[in-house]
Amino acid sequence: MRINDSAIVERLKELGVELRPAVSLKEKTSLAIGGVTDELLLRRYDTIPQVMRLLADAKIPHHFLGGGTNVLIADGELPWVVLHLPAAHPGMRVEGNSAFVDASADLGGMVTFCAKHDLGGMEGLIGVPGSVGGALRMNAGAYGTQIGPWVREVELYRAASGEVETVRGNDIRFDYRHTSFADDDVMLRVKLELPSKPYKEILAGIKVCNEKRRASQPLNQKSAGCIFKNPPGGSAGRMIDELKLKGHRVGDAAVSDRHANFFVNLANASCDDMRRLIDDVRERVRAAYGVELENEVIFWRN
Ligand SMILES: Cc1cc2nc3c(=O)[nH]c(=O)nc-3n(C[C@H](O)[C@H](O)[C@H](O)COP(=O)(O)OP(=O)(O)OC[C@H]3O[C@@H](n4cnc5c(N)ncnc54)[C@H](O)[C@@H]3O)c2cc1C
Repeated sequence: MRINDSAIVERLKELGVELRPAVSLKEKTSLAIGGVTDELLLRRYDTIPQVMRLLADAKIPHHFLGGGTNVLIADGELPWVVLHLPAAHPGMRVEGNSAFVDASADLGGMVTFCAKHDLGGMEGLIGVPGSVGGALRMNAGAYGTQIGPWVREVELYRAASGEVETVRGNDIRFDYRHTSFADDDVMLRVKLELPSKPYKEILAGIKVCNEKRRASQPLNQKSAGCIFKNPPGGSAGRMIDELKLKGHRVGDAAVSDRHANFFVNLANASCDDMRRLIDDVRERVRAAYGVELENEVIFWRN
């Protein structure tokens, strides 16, 4: 989608938004799949309510893109724009056991920043790529740790009220890869409360998680992490593996040889290749186990 109306373009500029026309989202996602649209870089947090109202009034549909590590995006010309918080100098500070972090920050960067201040608890999140905003939305987690339990407050733009609000951690439901945020909430900042731990001890925990990840995941290939959520009490990867589907492919989309719940883009997979592979594997798991796998990856259609 192109924003061509000169009055809107001018107003966006006044609000500190950088409009990048015709951006290939293939370049912005870890799967390296996605079509073309305008990208709006929201450089000023204070004008976000005005920007969002401008887009709503002009009926410009949008998706909010963090690090692009958990999305599967349609190909071709896209009928919506993407909004993104640039991550050049994210705010991060520590006061006692509290950490205050901008949503644009890199999640791993946040974990190591807190570690350097002797704040632990998030070691398991070290290898989860993407932004703090994306991690909050998804309640990212690994190796027994999720971000949700550490959250004390989230500052967000709430489309329903048109205002920036601060929501208490206790008022947010953080479930397995699902949260109670509204679909159109925009995460801006988070306050976490973390246990004190010596830096060296945290580093040792981080090392263990990094080694586990390297041993089991195709980290040098293009993926979005796990494609499916694990069903209650089960493992999507184990079922796919048992069906001998590692290496199974549709076009350039393939089930990883290394981790059966990671689907990889071998070279030039289209969104359609990846969707057909996902549907095919889901159907085979349903037929064999009577289990309906739910996507963990988020699909943005055209
Ligand atoms: C190699 C690899 C390993 C992975 N391992 C794990 C793992 O162990 N555990 C795990 O949980 N995930 C894992 N993932 C998936 C992914 O990294 C996480 O879901 C991550 O938290 C997504 O963050 P992101 O910034 O990339 O979000 P995106 O992919 O950009 O977006 C995901 C969702 O968050 C929303 N969003 C992003 N930023 C904001 C914001 N500021 N405000 C509102 N909404 C926002 C988007 O609109 C979208 O709905 C892995 C992915 C890869 C590629």
